[in-house]
Amino acid sequence: MILILLGAPGSGKGTQAKRLTEKLGLTHLSTGDILREAVKAGTDLGNKAKGFMNSGELVPDDLIIDMITAKMEENAAGAGFMLDGFPRNLAQAERLSEIFEKKNLVIDQVIYLNAPEAELVKRLSGRFYCPQCNAGYNYPMHLPKNEGVCDNEGEKLLRRPDDEEDVVQKRLSVYREQTSPLEEYYRSQGNLVEIDANTSPDQVTEEIISSVSKVKTA
Ligand code: AMP
Repeated sequence: MILILLGAPGSGKGTQAKRLTEKLGLTHLSTGDILREAVKAGTDLGNKAKGFMNSGELVPDDLIIDMITAKMEENAAGAGFMLDGFPRNLAQAERLSEIFEKKNLVIDQVIYLNAPEAELVKRLSGRFYCPQCNAGYNYPMHLPKNEGVCDNEGEKLLRRPDDEEDVVQKRLSVYREQTSPLEEYYRSQGNLVEIDANTSPDQVTEEIISSVSKVKTA
């Protein structure tokens, strides 16, 4: 099964992808997570991507396509993928479609998490993560037991550099201009499912599971 999670920064893609991949047994491929790992490890890819990421711009398509193709090949033997944060513009969507055509693969569903921009800004400005285990927290919705410290690791929680206010505005405008055309692109192909992401994480998970179960039985 191949699912794509589409949505603006803060719409809950990362949270939902983690929950769903556990439930569905799929491999979670988050281009943002892979890039952050590369930046942390100081690889060539990480060094090339860092400046774009910190300013809220998209990393050049060629770097992304090579990276995600390699990850899909590495995980080809599994039950399928959940792509989170990819594709991010029409050129990437078209390249993905060519790659899938060659491999005889199809996208089962594109799950579009829709939430109003004011809600996205509120969520991103309250977002913190553990640099050790990557667990995510959100003030005031999902607080750690001890303020500022990860429940699992006891590490001091950090804010992603691209969650600073000016970068958030840039990321939202990049989403509007470059990524949101994918909503129509996939809707016109008949495989987009729109989910109201302005509700609780549990309700969003339930709606996605219900939508995906229709694909499985179709
Ligand atoms: P995310 O964690 O998905 O919000 O991604 C964080 C940052 O990584 C983005 O703001 C981009 O700079 C970069 N990034 C992630 N996925 C892509 C992609 N598919 N294409 C280009 N840049 C990406």
